Amino acid sequence: MLIQVIFEDSMEGALAALDSVHADADAVEFRLDRMGDFDPALLIDRAPIPAIMTFRSRESGGAFRGGRRQRFEQLRRALQAGPAYVDLEFDTDDERLIPAAGESRVILSTHPPEGQTGDLEDLFRRMAGRTGVEVLKIVPCADSITDNLRIRSLLALAAREGRSLAAFCMGGRGLVSRLLALSWGSWATYGAARKGGESASGQLTVGELADLFRVKRVGRETRLFGILGFPLGHSLSPCIHNHAFRHLDLDACYLPFEAESISEFLPVMEELRLEGFSVTLPHKEAIIPHLDEVDEKSREFGSVNTVIRRGNRHVGFNTDVSAALRVLERALSVRDRRVALLGAGGAGAAIARALHQRGALVTIYNRSPDRARRLSDAIGCRSGALDDYGKESCDILINATSVGMYPDVGEIPVPAGTLRAEWVFDLVYNPPETLLLREARKRSIRTLGGLEMFLEQAMEQFQLFTGKPPPGAVMRRAAERALGFAAPGEERDA
Ligand code: NDP
Repeated sequence: MLIQVIFEDSMEGALAALDSVHADADAVEFRLDRMGDFDPALLIDRAPIPAIMTFRSRESGGAFRGGRRQRFEQLRRALQAGPAYVDLEFDTDDERLIPAAGESRVILSTHPPEGQTGDLEDLFRRMAGRTGVEVLKIVPCADSITDNLRIRSLLALAAREGRSLAAFCMGGRGLVSRLLALSWGSWATYGAARKGGESASGQLTVGELADLFRVKRVGRETRLFGILGFPLGHSLSPCIHNHAFRHLDLDACYLPFEAESISEFLPVMEELRLEGFSVTLPHKEAIIPHLDEVDEKSREFGSVNTVIRRGNRHVGFNTDVSAALRVLERALSVRDRRVALLGAGGAGAAIARALHQRGALVTIYNRSPDRARRLSDAIGCRSGALDDYGKESCDILINATSVGMYPDVGEIPVPAGTLRAEWVFDLVYNPPETLLLREARKRSIRTLGGLEMFLEQAMEQFQLFTGKPPPGAVMRRAAERALGFAAPGEERDA
């Protein structure tokens, strides 16, 4: 079941939300704990699909600020209206309502908080001992990405024992289990009715679950891909790759793997038999020792942003550098041009090497000048501190720092008054129009934006993942729309 959660603070809001129940939703959950006064019978009557009544306690992450007794009475009132399901909390007074459930089916739920996930199997067995319960629901907060695997095992146990269990993890690290829950046999996964209407951490909207990740379609045969990084909050990759899969009608899904350390990701990669994944900050270098093979470019640049599985071997590639060069060389020739490169991080280092090889005269400027010096010594080019930029003129200025990136969109890596070049190329792609690009254009400097490079690297990645030509226009429109500058619905026409 795909459950659309309605988490509004008024009856008007809840009733209005019923106007846009997603076509793939199988039930709506009314989260009553945020509503002041509510009329459960009216909500049930207006709901076009079965209704679940939930009045989450504060201990389980709910929004109600009243007392326990008051909550209990409200829950009883909601139950008396006869919803299809009522959500009662395990090991609390709520259980006294089980015998009064009548025709309503009982979901017995528990939400172990962060750091207290404990023994989930033991928890499941204790919950399974309760009578009069139709569905068990166990939703811990993921402490690590490996907790997703514990959910998968738990769901397998429930299936063996013939119990209906809804299980997934909360939090950014638990997203994978929300997305794969149905394919692992979970009774349900839950999505918010709208952005900003999330009732739990890590919850996506029902539209994202159904349309972008196609959770009801994902099955045992679905090819799994994803992105490894930390944090992943605003990554566009799931959006563009999933749109591309959908456009080509591929049975494939691209998932976000938010992991602080590579060691916690590796068991997930193995257990889920990932066919390929993108790698982003901070793991592009650190992933290399964990791979069976890396291609020549990645070895040379010391950075991998794409991994594919060939049999049982994992092979690393770098599509960032070739993408950056394609974007630049479509516009101009870099040979013998003076390039001022801001930034000596992963992207800066790889681009500095590639441009140097192409005959550009590169000077690397970095906030930490020692890092720039080590890199320039290794490459055989020049370097300086970020403050040194502007003392010498250049033909091409490239920003490979993260300055100007969302949310710090009012920042610029060097003072606007020092901008003197023929071209400015900003690797930052969110926002696509950075302050650096705007200031450059004001000075009649030609510009190249990071979104072009981002799309180029993603398309090459898609080809590596699937062996198929990437649907470039679809990927572009998906990215543009996610960044908020394409007409709504545009990518559906592609
Ligand atoms: P890294 O973290 O490896 O490097 C970050 C760089 O930014 C370092 O040089 C760092 O300097 C510098 N930096 C960070 N904060 C500041 C600051 N406040 N002032 C000055 N310098 C700062 O990141 P990457 O190299 O992987 O990525 C760099 C940028 O390139 C990011 O914005 C990323 O989104 C973008 N990028 C875009 C791609 C695309 O496809 N368009 C692909 C890859 C990256 P220091 O060494 O002193 O810490």
